Amino acid sequence: MTSEKPRIYSAEGVVLRHHNLGEADRIVTLLTPGRGILRAVAKGARKPNSKLGGQLDLIRRVSVSARTGRTLDSISQAETIESYPRLKMDLELMSKAFYLCELTEKFAVEDAPAARVYRMLIDGLSQLEKTKVPDLMIHWYEMRLLHLNGSQPQIQRCVDCGNDLEQEDHVFSAMRGGIACPSCRPSGSDTMLPASVATIKLLRFLQRAGQNEIERLRVAEDDRRQVERILREHIHFATDRTVRSASFVDEVRSQGKRVSG
Ligand SMILES: [Zn+2]
Repeated sequence: MTSEKPRIYSAEGVVLRHHNLGEADRIVTLLTPGRGILRAVAKGARKPNSKLGGQLDLIRRVSVSARTGRTLDSISQAETIESYPRLKMDLELMSKAFYLCELTEKFAVEDAPAARVYRMLIDGLSQLEKTKVPDLMIHWYEMRLLHLNGSQPQIQRCVDCGNDLEQEDHVFSAMRGGIACPSCRPSGSDTMLPASVATIKLLRFLQRAGQNEIERLRVAEDDRRQVERILREHIHFATDRTVRSASFVDEVRSQGKRVSG
């Protein structure tokens, strides 16, 4: 047991998740540049009219003052830096913002600096607010996050033998993390997804394109969906967990709902 005195510190972060604690408290999970994932208690945050609670809404960039604690730190003050209002008014964008946050969280760890991942998240949220192609923007983001993590899919040549890929339809092996040529086509329990010529082209474009190039891109919805399936499976294997809000994105899309106001 250490008898360290509580220390006050300040941090900037994006609110990723909430958990209720006791009657009126809330555990807030933030992604911060200096500490990576930070979990801290916001006392009284669930009380009606709690100023602290209001500042710690989900998908909000905040600056907090916190005090170290024996098990969990506690947040005493929070101030909004960016509230991303457009993401909160549109259910489709909101579902995508949740996905973006949850996905990014998987690429960060507790108590380890995550400056680049954090920068990606705040840039991604800002871009999501103004993009004209939210689906493609998300795929571009997924690709960049995978690149940052060193786990991008192998889509330039065969993942197994390393040979160049002919201009034809191939399969993507999620287990091996890339496209397999016909002679290396896996069998058995491996998850294989179809990867058409157009899909491979789109994946390659996403891998090298800059943010602005994405906005000018127009693609067939079928190809985009194929890319979506490939990236999701790949991320699933790369992070070993399914991103839960991916199903929320699908649900919202299928309903085509908008939040009025
Ligand atoms: Zn091969």
